[in-house]
Amino acid sequence: MENISHSKTDKFSFLADSLKWDKEKVIPPEVFSKLMEIGTLRRCVSAASERENVWDELSYDLSCIGKESASLLSLIIVNLMASTVISKYVQPSDNMPLLQGIESGENLVAIGFSEEGAGSDLGAIETSLSKGTRKGEFLLNGGKKWISGAMYADHFLVYARHESEVGFVLLKKDSPGMTVEPCANLSAFKAAGLGNLSFEDCRVSEEQMLGFTDKMLSAASSLALQLGRFAVAWGSVGMQSKCCELAFQRSLHRKVFGSSLHKKDLNRRKLALMRTNYALSLAISQKMTNAWIESDMNKHNLTLIAKYSCARHVKETSDLLAQIYGALSFQDNNQVNQIVRDAPVFSTIEGTAEVVELVIGTPYGALT
Ligand SMILES: Cc1cc2nc3c(=O)[nH]c(=O)nc-3n(C[C@H](O)[C@H](O)[C@H](O)COP(=O)(O)OP(=O)(O)OC[C@H]3O[C@@H](n4cnc5c(N)ncnc54)[C@H](O)[C@@H]3O)c2cc1C
Repeated sequence: MENISHSKTDKFSFLADSLKWDKEKVIPPEVFSKLMEIGTLRRCVSAASERENVWDELSYDLSCIGKESASLLSLIIVNLMASTVISKYVQPSDNMPLLQGIESGENLVAIGFSEEGAGSDLGAIETSLSKGTRKGEFLLNGGKKWISGAMYADHFLVYARHESEVGFVLLKKDSPGMTVEPCANLSAFKAAGLGNLSFEDCRVSEEQMLGFTDKMLSAASSLALQLGRFAVAWGSVGMQSKCCELAFQRSLHRKVFGSSLHKKDLNRRKLALMRTNYALSLAISQKMTNAWIESDMNKHNLTLIAKYSCARHVKETSDLLAQIYGALSFQDNNQVNQIVRDAPVFSTIEGTAEVVELVIGTPYGALT
C-alpha cells in the first residue's frame, strides 16, 4: 500500500498531545526543544540556505508534523520562509548572534507579508519606512495581519516599502513602536499563535533592512514562498494519511443498518476516493522532493502544482472524513473536527487556490 511509513518510528511521538494544544491554544515550549533535538529545525535552515541536501528527511518530517498538527506545521513553514530570506542577506561570516539562534532553532522567526488590503496582491502593501531624524535611522509605520507564530516569535521579518523599493525589515520582539496582538476568535490553526502587528514610528537601522537595493529580492521572496508551498504540500500528505487511518478505523467499528459501515458500497467509495487522493498527493510530493534533490530546472513549477493539488486533495479528503464520522465531526476537540477545521486553510496560505490557478494557467507569464 502507498505509505510514508509514519508508524515505523516514534520519533514524533511527542506530537500526540496536539489536540490539547488546540484546546489551550498554545504549543508547549518542550515541543520546540524536541524539534531542535531531533534536527527538524536545523534541516529547515539548511534547506532554506540550500547549502545541504536535506530534502528527503525534511519531507518526511513535514508530513509527520502535518499528520498531527497543522498549527505546528504553520510555525515550521514561516520559520522556513523567514530563514530563506535571512540566509540570503546575512552571511555566517557576519557573526550575527541572531543567525546562530535561528540556525540552532532556539529563535523562532515570523514573516509578515499580509496586510488588511494586501493578501494575494503584495504590490498593494502600505507598511513603509521613512527617514528618521538621526543619520542612518528609519521609521517603520503600518501593520501586518494574520502572522503565524507571532505570539511565539523572537524575531519578525516584515515586508515593507521604502520609496520605490521593497524589502524586509528584521525586528526583535518587543522593539519599541511595535505591537503584537493575538488574532481573536480563530476557528482553525488555533495553536498557531497567529497575531497582528502594528508599527508606529518603530526605529530601524540600516543593518536591519534586508534586500531593499537588491534587484534579486523577488528571487529571494519567491524562493521563500516556494519553500512554504513545499511544506504545505508535505503537510497535506501527512494530514491525509491521518484522515485515511481515522476513516478506516471508524468504518470497521461503526455499525449501521445491521452491519459494519465498511461493508457498505457507499462507504467503500469514500474510502477509495480518500486513499486515491492520498496516493496522488504522496506521488506528486515525492516527485517535487526529487526535483529539489536534483536541482531540476522545473522544481518551482512542480512545487506550485504540488501545493495546489495537495491542498485540493486534503480538503476533499477531510470532507469525506466528516461524512464518515457524521455528527461527531462537528463536536469540538476531537481529531476529526480538528482536521475538518484546519484542512481548508491549506488552500488559502502561500497563495489562495484560485490565485495559484491563475499562475499555473498563465503560459510563461507572471500574474497581472
Ligand atoms: C492560518 C493562516 C496563517 C497565515 N499566516 C500568515 C503569515 O505567517 N504571514 C503572512 O504574511 N500572511 C499569513 N496569512 C495570510 C495569507 O497569506 C493570506 O490570507 C493569503 O495571502 C490570501 O490573502 P487574503 O486572505 O487577503 O485573500 P485575497 O487576496 O483577498 O484573496 C481572496 C480571493 O480573492 C480572489 N482574488 C484575489 N486576487 C485575484 C485575482 N488577481 N484575480 C481573480 N481573483 C482574485 C480569489 O478568489 C482569492 O481566493 C495567513 C492566513 C491564514 C488563514
